[in-house]
Amino acid sequence: MEIKGKSVFNGIAIGKIEIYSKGDKTVVRKSVSDTAAEVSRFEKAKQDASEQLAALYEKALKEVGEVNAAIFEVHQMMLEDPDFVEAVIGIIENQSVNAEYAVAQTGDNFAEMFAAMDDDYMRARAADIKDISDRLVGILCGVGADGIRSEEPVILLADDLAPSETVQLDKSKVLSFVTKHGSANSHTAILARTMNIPALISVDYPEDCEGKTAIVDGFEGIIIIDPPVSELEKYTERLNKAQEEKMLLQQLKGKENVTLDGRKINLYANIGGVSDVAAVLANDASGIGLFRSEFLYLGTDDYPTEEQQFLAYKSVAETMAGKKVIIRTLDIGADKQVDYFNLGKEDNPAMGYRAIRICLDRPEIFKTQLRAIYRASYYGNLSIMFPMIISVDEVKKIKSIVEEVKESLRQDGIPFKEVELGVMIETPAAVMISDLLAKEVDFFSIGTNDLTQYTLAIDRQNAKLDNIYDSHHPAILRMLQMVVDNGHKEGCWVGICGELGADTSLTETFINMGFDELSVSPSMVLRVRDKIRKTGA
Ligand code: PEP
Ligand code: MG
Repeated sequence: MEIKGKSVFNGIAIGKIEIYSKGDKTVVRKSVSDTAAEVSRFEKAKQDASEQLAALYEKALKEVGEVNAAIFEVHQMMLEDPDFVEAVIGIIENQSVNAEYAVAQTGDNFAEMFAAMDDDYMRARAADIKDISDRLVGILCGVGADGIRSEEPVILLADDLAPSETVQLDKSKVLSFVTKHGSANSHTAILARTMNIPALISVDYPEDCEGKTAIVDGFEGIIIIDPPVSELEKYTERLNKAQEEKMLLQQLKGKENVTLDGRKINLYANIGGVSDVAAVLANDASGIGLFRSEFLYLGTDDYPTEEQQFLAYKSVAETMAGKKVIIRTLDIGADKQVDYFNLGKEDNPAMGYRAIRICLDRPEIFKTQLRAIYRASYYGNLSIMFPMIISVDEVKKIKSIVEEVKESLRQDGIPFKEVELGVMIETPAAVMISDLLAKEVDFFSIGTNDLTQYTLAIDRQNAKLDNIYDSHHPAILRMLQMVVDNGHKEGCWVGICGELGADTSLTETFINMGFDELSVSPSMVLRVRDKIRKTGA
């Protein structure tokens, strides 16, 4: 039986299914006469929960790092939240009921309140509040920590998994997480990704599959329960190959991106959203070289607010813990259409109203994004780059808008850091004036996907032309060299963030050309590192 879900981390897992049991925490409403005794039971449970969370923080700190462990500190703080505490005590005293009931009721009320909020981040906090109240109820009911019953590693199926549940599981016994609920942005998904385990959400599995053999295919987002022998053989072969490669590449984590003759290059990763950050960490990239910020605009039916954007950028900046994160400003139009922008139909959308052209034409959209990025700059090491540049004039206009935004933040008393500003070099015009552009910015990042399209006059979306869409074309390679030289003359660092950056047949060429940085998809980081380390005399 094959069931489709949504993958939050790729990979293959084969094993027996265990359905996660949260233990019996059924809460019954009981009338009590001694409400003071119930209040002290609650206070004691709160104390125990706080100690458990402190221990979980220490465990997570070792396993998944400080930034990802921080959720348990947040839970500790939420546990002490005066509104939450007062609400629990209020229910005990006003209704003369048991502490378990008051906690469960308050947890449900608060979770409902968060879930109804008009903000993805706050909605995701509903799961945290449920997690806290479940923990308290568990302590009050005397139910201990949950574990895996099987002696063998399993594919763990659950309705949903709270972060505290995933982290306290013995990881060596989990082959994959598969849940009915949960979101790609939840901490659970992020933790699962950080743990480097294939994980699926939105899987409507049958309840009677405990103990059955299953295959989780995180590439396709499917679970196959009771697979036929032919499928098992096929996937076992894929798993063995992938594991061999993974093991070899894992040995490169923590190693430098340095050639045999001592030349170093920065190796960053490209992301499309907050949920990709875990893969960046799991693959040990030293930074994020391209954050395609348009995902924030694509997934909704209205403009994302400054606050929504701020929270997304802040979360990435904080999770990367001081490593460089380059946010590319909105790059919509052409193949990335968003209804509410009302861009209208164009004969040549790839050469049309898109990216920086829209931002300069509709500065209110641009300013909202820049304000959000600058606000988030305070929380990490952010840089900004601008797509589809064709002239110095555009860069001057951008810089003046940036100054306006910074001034408005100063006036509002909002702290921010100075950030590096760069441009994407993805039009032949930008290449040809890269000497002039270099005087205006701190860095260049070459978008070889579009640069190839515009240089060779080949629509990158047209499958009929795939065989002649050639990023190795000498015209492109000469352009790359020209951009590096012009950038370096003015003290700009120069990188590649298009797909070509991950082409290991050119890694040596890029290093010889003098590139300072390559930004590739997270899953390619260790492969490219491997190539770099084998390059040079
Ligand atoms: C590029 O054009 O190479 C690039 C990195 O940007 P995108 O693929 O998002 O257009
Ligand atoms: Mg591009």
